[in-house]
Amino acid sequence: MARYTGALCRQCRREGEKLFLKGDRCYTDKCAFERRKYPPGQHGTSRTKISDYGIQLREKQKVKRIYGVLEKQFRKYFKEAQKKKGVTGELLLQFLELRLDNIVYRLGFASNRRQARQFVNHGHILVNGRVVDIPSYRVKAGDVIEVKESSRKIPFIEENISKVEHRGIPNWLELEPENFRGKVLSIPSREEIPLDVKEHLIVELYSK
Ligand code: SF4
Repeated sequence: MARYTGALCRQCRREGEKLFLKGDRCYTDKCAFERRKYPPGQHGTSRTKISDYGIQLREKQKVKRIYGVLEKQFRKYFKEAQKKKGVTGELLLQFLELRLDNIVYRLGFASNRRQARQFVNHGHILVNGRVVDIPSYRVKAGDVIEVKESSRKIPFIEENISKVEHRGIPNWLELEPENFRGKVLSIPSREEIPLDVKEHLIVELYSK
């Protein structure tokens, strides 16, 4: 499966904001964006006027980077959202939010989405009692997501769960930390997706 393998902090600097791609490190003074708040590269510090197209493009790139999804798959989500009844931008974010790797991250089993994807790929995660090793798997309301019993001793997982109270989980998810288990209570509405993005810009970009 293709995925971005470049430097993660560069992506935050490119987008001009913290995307929290590295988990705990993002909250420390080691954060590269805190140290260098300008785009990477030779011309990073020079000012350039950004066009409407550029603004839309950056918003799309930002969302792709937050969820760790490549262009082809992102466009597939968009097309699916476009065909479905409802607000396209909201549907797009719902599809991304309901990816199994994102749920594993939101429940606090992983400190970031990249780590969550790895846990899923390595077969540590069960959905309704069965191993699902596909990070893009879309969960449904009522699904129970848990860490496989034999994987519960993995130090990272134990440590992440112990920190989840501090980070908090969205109210459309329920967590039983002592059982390494969580449940999807409902499909999140736009207001319940904690993401500072203007999804209408993505819709405008793809609708050209
Ligand atoms: Fe972005 Fe800072 Fe986290 Fe690096 S450490 S991914 S720059 S938020």
